Amino acid sequence: MLTCNKDRVKNKIETFSMFGDAGSGGITRFSLSEEALKAREEFVKRMSAVGAEIVTDDMANMYATLGGTDADFPRIVMASHCDSVRNGGNYDGILGVIAAMEVIETIVLEKISHRHPITAMIWTNEEGSLYPPAMMSSGVVCGKFDKAEMLSSKSSQGKTFGEALEESGYVGDALNRFNPKDYIAMLELHIEQGPVLEAEKKKIGVVEGVVGMVNYRISTYGQADHAGTTPMSYRRDALLAAASAIKYLHTELDKLDSNLVYTTGEILCHPCVHTVIPDLVDFSLDVRHQNPEVIRQVVEIIKNMPKTFDKCEVKYQEAWARNTIEFNKELVDLVQKNADAYGYTSKRMYSGAGHDAQFAAEIVPTTMIFVPSKDGHSHCEPEFTSVEECWRGINVVLQTVLEIDMGA
Ligand SMILES: [Zn+2]
Repeated sequence: MLTCNKDRVKNKIETFSMFGDAGSGGITRFSLSEEALKAREEFVKRMSAVGAEIVTDDMANMYATLGGTDADFPRIVMASHCDSVRNGGNYDGILGVIAAMEVIETIVLEKISHRHPITAMIWTNEEGSLYPPAMMSSGVVCGKFDKAEMLSSKSSQGKTFGEALEESGYVGDALNRFNPKDYIAMLELHIEQGPVLEAEKKKIGVVEGVVGMVNYRISTYGQADHAGTTPMSYRRDALLAAASAIKYLHTELDKLDSNLVYTTGEILCHPCVHTVIPDLVDFSLDVRHQNPEVIRQVVEIIKNMPKTFDKCEVKYQEAWARNTIEFNKELVDLVQKNADAYGYTSKRMYSGAGHDAQFAAEIVPTTMIFVPSKDGHSHCEPEFTSVEECWRGINVVLQTVLEIDMGA
């Protein structure tokens, strides 16, 4: 079967790892920063060299397109992001852009005839590291976020995303936006960002969708009193109550499906003084599962939890929720077929993390392909996927693009 070039893949990984190199194995490459602009320049250089036409849209999303034999055919796009979190790794996002470039280069260099235009794309500001929220530009283009609101998103230094956008020099025409009329499919290759593929010795993750989630805020209300003069039996300690509530929730949630994941990652304690018994604690509960029925059971558990713990009242409030996104079934099956055809072991799975592809999926047939993450690490400098593993994933993207083109 046709494969892409491993040396070229290695060269791209090494080259892009320099843009934002933090000197300790990873990168810090915030969207539209000087480092991110260097990555964009490299993308332009490589894509122009093989004759792709490059445009940007009004959110500075970049599109490098190789014309097909039929100019009227809709495009097949491969897309991801080139920005990172602070002290992030060399694979999250950029691997999908590297894959897109490598597929286009292979098609040109191997002189493969194709009917559809084929596009390599960079989504702007996926991480939302400087300018929240995450997946900002795919959110705007796919109708999830209000553009004016996004332009006013401010960094901690007080600069707005709109200002950064103007300064970048990459603002193009809104008419160039990814859209359901001109696009037939979107593929995103990404690292798994978790330990499952490596642990189960699978090479390819055939991604069926992105898990739904609910995010709750839970508060406990006690009485602030002196830490030295208040006997234990007189206290209403909101932090003790929060600990009891967290333990209760873990015990109950563990009775549900084993694929359920839940996290308390944020906790606020008032007044947070070592000589005062806390009177208010507020904590987050992030819960994710692909099956809406399991999420419904989670919500039942939260609603039915005791109204008081340790003499403190407990209140809860939904902060936000997102439904499970199912990727296009035909594309998922095509990815599976091609992973099998190359002889790569694979696993069907859902993404626990959010990706641009989840917004894209709502307007254009979309799917994702995962490759293993060493020790499951991601959003950190030790993030690693071998050249060989990246190359296998890109081969699956290549073959899938060619079969979409043939109308498979
Ligand atoms: Zn990513």
